[in-house]
Amino acid sequence: MRIRYLPSILINRIAAGEVLERPASAVKELVENSIDAGATKIMIELEEGGKNLIRITDNGSGMNKEELEIAVERHATSKLPEDDLVHITHLGFRGEALPSIASVSRMNITSNDGSGAWILTLEGGEKSAIAPSALNKGTRIEVRDLFFATPTRLKFLKSVRTEVDRTVELIDRLAMAYPNIAFSLKNDGKDIFSYAATAGDLLDSRLKRISEILGKEILDNVIPIKAERNGVIIEGYAGLPTLNRGTSGFQYFFVNNRPIRDKLLLGVVKAAYQDVMSHDRHPILALFITLPFEEVDVNVHPTKAEVRFRDSAMIRSLIISSIRHGLADAGHRASSSVSEFALSNFSSAPRYYPGRSSSAGANLAEKNLLWQAPLPEIRESFSPEARTEIPPVQDDISYPLGAARGQLHETYIVSQTKDGIVIVDQHAAHERLVYEKMKIAMEKDGVKTQVLLIPEVVELGSSSINRLESKQKELAAFGLVFETLGDKAVVIREVPAIIKDCDVKKLIENIADDLEEHGEILSLSKAIEHIAETMACHGSIRAGRRLNREEMNSLLREMESTPNSGQCNHGRPTYIELKLSDIEKLFGRK
Ligand code: ADP
Ligand code: MG
Repeated sequence: MRIRYLPSILINRIAAGEVLERPASAVKELVENSIDAGATKIMIELEEGGKNLIRITDNGSGMNKEELEIAVERHATSKLPEDDLVHITHLGFRGEALPSIASVSRMNITSNDGSGAWILTLEGGEKSAIAPSALNKGTRIEVRDLFFATPTRLKFLKSVRTEVDRTVELIDRLAMAYPNIAFSLKNDGKDIFSYAATAGDLLDSRLKRISEILGKEILDNVIPIKAERNGVIIEGYAGLPTLNRGTSGFQYFFVNNRPIRDKLLLGVVKAAYQDVMSHDRHPILALFITLPFEEVDVNVHPTKAEVRFRDSAMIRSLIISSIRHGLADAGHRASSSVSEFALSNFSSAPRYYPGRSSSAGANLAEKNLLWQAPLPEIRESFSPEARTEIPPVQDDISYPLGAARGQLHETYIVSQTKDGIVIVDQHAAHERLVYEKMKIAMEKDGVKTQVLLIPEVVELGSSSINRLESKQKELAAFGLVFETLGDKAVVIREVPAIIKDCDVKKLIENIADDLEEHGEILSLSKAIEHIAETMACHGSIRAGRRLNREEMNSLLREMESTPNSGQCNHGRPTYIELKLSDIEKLFGRK
């Protein structure tokens, strides 16, 4: 056996195996190059979802003859002028995309840096002579027969529809990060999307772009997020809990404006929303994290979609607190899509959901089913102390939730606002109010602990023990006090008083699992909140209880002043609002 250096085309094909999973990944790399080249307009044209042809045309800086020739060489890049892998300012830096794509396809690049156009043609990575051509300033790259040189990869490609969808997913993320660039995508001559360039304040133009991508309903249903700590800035938009989806696929993360996919961040978002949304639903959100280059490593994975934070605990807590503050500030706001949905049910007109993707409508329908799920079992104990701090009652329609006009079916409060009517689910609303009160009480007085008379020994694997040990302090702050017993077991001495009757062994196992999965303790706080929720539910005004005008109005006033009161503990809305203009529409007056 003789050790030898591999020929460069083979090396490029091996790299292609990492960088290029499918046509969408080639499109992404090429579009990133166009963005890096300063383009303000990027046109993507596909044939058969990119399997036949990918053509990208940009109006960026372009390349001259020499640059064009060297651009397709391995590790050739213009983006690390100082050999500095810390201050990475471009989307690209590895110098791998062009040679990798070229090595497995038939490619040509036409480029003009202002001094005239040249075309370079390659087949399976072999260059043919460079020749003069015609093109305005910018670059056009055509990739034909992707993966013809690696037939195994070719076999794994999916239907045209699926491949187009993958491209849309990846390019949407880039388009969100660069709202000032116009993007368009066509497949087999058909327009898939065309996002106009937006100008002005970055946060505003991001929102505009996000609404182009996700649909206009977003505009009324997101809360702006902004927070800063130690030079780390979190900005973006978090969806109201009532605008939820069945997957986490509508969560977009950017680090220094680079779209990333990150399990840690998904877990963080889950934690931030955990007490306003049931665990199988997912919020919509776009978060832009800006931080000093030294604080993050983007050179973790060939596709550059993963990053590593130096201080991930700080980032996690900053994101959680900024989202929670945003949601709490939103107070009683519930998503407008709720009343839109209500309206579409009232009317005989066909349902219409704004937004490009037809699946948005399906998701809303699915969400509605969730609301219609039966409420948890309700018992008869209406707790009087929950009503002692009620503000003075006023019959004034200028309040956001208006003045109560009556109660229907002993379950719904109907109120009149300045320009519409509001229907409140009295049980859901009151449950939320009680729960928020209990949470505040818990935060104020801390978590009371209960010392176990007989300490509980729980056997666990050594990796679980290590993880628990690393969080010993935090857990103690939550009221869970334990010691390790060798590397096989823990002894639990104290538990939070509020859950003193729970299965301690189960709880600690769940916590260890959470730590493994999310690096985050969800179970304990969840357990506490679950108890709080259950107690809140039982202490609430049940559906079916008759309320007088005064009681109804005080409930409305309390909702207005309580954070998160727009949805119940299960993410269902506590009220819906119908505007007069909508009602007029129903009656055909407009
Ligand atoms: P990287 O993006 O990591 O530098 P690539 O292989 O993707 O590596 O590209 C190699 C080089 O080719 C880039 O550094 C850039 O100088 C040049 N280049 C690629 N695409 C374009 C483009 N659309 N416009 C101008 N220059 C480009
Ligand atoms: Mg690149």
